[in-house]
Amino acid sequence: MAAEKMEFKTEVKELLDLMIHSLYSHKEIFLRELISNASDAIDKARFESLTNTGILENTGAWKIKIIVDKAAGTLAVSDNGMGMTHDEVIAELGTIAHSGTKDFLRALQSKELKDKPELIGQFGVGFYSSFMVADKVAVVTRKATEKTKKAIKWESTADGSFTIDETKKDLAGTDVILHLKADDKNYLNEWEIRSIIKKYSDYIEHPVVMDVEREKEDPRDKNKKIKVAEEETMNAGKAIWLRDPSEVKTEEYNEFYKHISHDFGDPAKVIHYRAEGTSEFTALLFVPAKAPYGILYRDYKIGPTLYVKRVQIMDHCEQLIPEYLRFIKGVVDSSDLPLNVSREILQNNKHVEVIKKNITKKVLDTLLDMKKNAYDSYVAFHKEFGRVLKEGIHFDFSRKEQIADLLLFPSTKTEAGKLTTFEDYYKNMPIAQGEIYYITGRPDENVLQSPYLEAFREKGYEVLIMTDDIDDVIMSSLQEYKGKKIKSVIKGDISLDTTGDKEKEKSKEKFEKLLAMIKNQLKDEVKDVRVSGRLKDSACCLVADEGGLDPQMEKLLKSMGQEVPSDKRILEINAGHQIFEVMNNLVAQGGREDVLKEYIDLLYNQALLLEGSKVKDPAAFAKAMAKLMLENAKQSASH
Ligand code: ADP
Repeated sequence: MAAEKMEFKTEVKELLDLMIHSLYSHKEIFLRELISNASDAIDKARFESLTNTGILENTGAWKIKIIVDKAAGTLAVSDNGMGMTHDEVIAELGTIAHSGTKDFLRALQSKELKDKPELIGQFGVGFYSSFMVADKVAVVTRKATEKTKKAIKWESTADGSFTIDETKKDLAGTDVILHLKADDKNYLNEWEIRSIIKKYSDYIEHPVVMDVEREKEDPRDKNKKIKVAEEETMNAGKAIWLRDPSEVKTEEYNEFYKHISHDFGDPAKVIHYRAEGTSEFTALLFVPAKAPYGILYRDYKIGPTLYVKRVQIMDHCEQLIPEYLRFIKGVVDSSDLPLNVSREILQNNKHVEVIKKNITKKVLDTLLDMKKNAYDSYVAFHKEFGRVLKEGIHFDFSRKEQIADLLLFPSTKTEAGKLTTFEDYYKNMPIAQGEIYYITGRPDENVLQSPYLEAFREKGYEVLIMTDDIDDVIMSSLQEYKGKKIKSVIKGDISLDTTGDKEKEKSKEKFEKLLAMIKNQLKDEVKDVRVSGRLKDSACCLVADEGGLDPQMEKLLKSMGQEVPSDKRILEINAGHQIFEVMNNLVAQGGREDVLKEYIDLLYNQALLLEGSKVKDPAAFAKAMAKLMLENAKQSASH
């Protein structure tokens, strides 16, 4: 077969370009990435060998070898793992853009990475990081299932293309050979390599070995020393989760976390424990400090890596964790599951159920503990993952109050930048207050100015401020907290006390005709007009029915292109506002219907603006306003 020359996919080209003109300050991570790939490849081969023992003849004892050739200026990372076929090499190392690559480039455009190059590691651009230190990279690989010595050689100088050729290789696995750039020859030094491995790859379960030259006595001449190369294992190598937590250093946890999560930063919290009883397993879980890119996307991969008796079975075992804890990274090693377990078997497995329940409880308890004992870190956690965590209220009915206790909100009573909880809200409720209130709004809106809060403020009732798109749905699922109903201040009828109710009845009689007139004029726009229990200063506002769609939610659904049932709103008027006295008098006098009609339109449009909607006919609205101003000006001039 003649060598084939192929073009990289556009995204890969862009990525390589970035790698070469590196915006990256920790070049040495290339070695971590290559060792990590080698370790993954061995895990795959070991898994395959459970059912296909034949491949063990091609692979030998699992190990990763670092090979330095000072004369040639090359550094190679060699593994006896799964290897790749001809087509796999082309796809994996050139023509498919891994979803990580796409995310990475998208994030770059958003400038996020310019300021934070350490995010690079999150995006699974591992292999290509070789080009930060090498001007030419060769990959020689033989698939573990290939019985002959047939192997594939991939080569590139990152000039937009790569070549593929056939070659021979004694053992299965992959050699990645870097021709180091002139400035990066330091990576040929033993101590440099040793320190990088210690720093980043110590926890790798398979031995990472290297031939090390040692001075020894010459057996032929006792007075002479000779140099002998000996293979030395450079990493500690024991599966970190099987060690006693008291013996694992924080740095070791941190490096392991980076290996499995592709995150560059340290985790916010480590959860490491062994469960015994109905189900025996070890879990090493991490709460990241920063939300990974894409956590709100549908295709985000969730779940810890599943091991059975130390053999890696699958990445992202989503059956082990509820979706609302999808930010958790880590590994679970079970002693009860069969080694040949598949995703199908996992679906209804009772051990898996037990593990999932146990992990869920452990994570929620840990978060609660963090909230109590490390409040500042908890606030930081909540800022990143509160939006995801609260989904649990909707999806995990049995734990909804427990999850509610983990949520933080600003309120009409918290100081700027401070947050409260349902628990504190509940404790501080005045005796007369029967319900828990919240208001929804966009994060950039100043909801504190909302007319919907007027009566609550006057009464001294606290209102929680919720700015996540899904909050209204979540609160509808939560329904109540410690027996107190949870109510949106912008939906349904509000009665804050019984005197208010009596007044409302009186006003209803007093304004009967006016209300009927407004209702009639706006019959196509609103479904009812009534006296408000929530307004004190503003003249009127629009509200949804108790079970109706929150305007925030309605906008969200519309922006996603979803059909939204067009449920009409209710117009509430402030019976204490003077404008209605004036209008009521006009009604009583009769005959000024043109003026009343104009006022009703203006009031309705104001209500639309207050709720954050657009007026129906901006030109007509502006004209009516100008007319009103002119009349007012004329009157002032004549006085
Ligand atoms: P990632 O490891 O995040 O998927 P990489 O760019 O590092 O991204 O690698 C791309 C793919 O190439 C891997 O997913 C794997 O399929 C393949 N690969 C890389 N290195 C090896 C290796 N040493 N052995 C076998 N396959 C490998």
